[in-house]
Amino acid sequence: ELILNQVSKVFEQNRVVDQISLNIPQGSFVALLGPSGCGKTTTLRMLAGFETLSEGELRLGNQTLATAKTQLPPEDRNMGMVFQSYALWPHMTVAENVGYPLKHRRIPSGMYQKKIKDALETVEMMPYAQRYPQDLSGGQRQRVALARCLVTDPDVVLLDEPLANLDRHLRASMEESFRAFHQRTGATMIYVTHDQAEAMSLANQIAVMEKGRLVQWSSPEALYHQPKTQWVAEFIGQGS
Ligand code: ATP
Repeated sequence: ELILNQVSKVFEQNRVVDQISLNIPQGSFVALLGPSGCGKTTTLRMLAGFETLSEGELRLGNQTLATAKTQLPPEDRNMGMVFQSYALWPHMTVAENVGYPLKHRRIPSGMYQKKIKDALETVEMMPYAQRYPQDLSGGQRQRVALARCLVTDPDVVLLDEPLANLDRHLRASMEESFRAFHQRTGATMIYVTHDQAEAMSLANQIAVMEKGRLVQWSSPEALYHQPKTQWVAEFIGQGS
């Protein structure tokens, strides 16, 4: 279970995340949904360990990840992160990119190639193993970024608007890759988006944020049929 307990982030008197509490069961697919500037990315960065907490506590199982005073470094959190910008190394092949996170771990050499192969097969990118990132489309790069995350067997995968840079027609197939990844790994997925349709189609639990606050935490169905506030109703109704 991933627990956020009264987590806040204050930047120069600006409360961008305001006392968020969530209990997220292992294996959930969670969307952090809200308009631009509501604090989604800051929340994700605190989970990843790239940002300190101003108040509150983060826990994963029995382990304390962070409080306002202490922080476990990102590499000790057993989490993977996928950004909208992919962040692949241009001078490395697809296989080398995917294997990169294993370099810092003690993996028997026989397992090394197998893990890379398994990860690339999950995202259907094995045929591209020896290519370089610049030879791939945006969707293919995003799949490689996902495979690079998969290779370390993370408990939690953090995704920051991973479809933002992709063409509309690529999004549906990428959504399938996320589902396959989720099913195959049983990892908890935390998916940041401002797109309510994307959140509704992927997540089994949605956290709606407005101005740093959590305004609703429910299943997609409950969010749609029983929005807690007028603002949520209007936000969810957008585009439909
Ligand atoms: P977007 O989808 O546009 O990225 P978001 O919901 O992810 O929006 P955040 O990126 O978390 O929102 O930003 C929330 C607020 O915090 C914004 O007003 C932003 O300007 C502010 N903010 C973020 N990082 C910093 C920082 N390092 N210093 C000061 N203010 C910051």
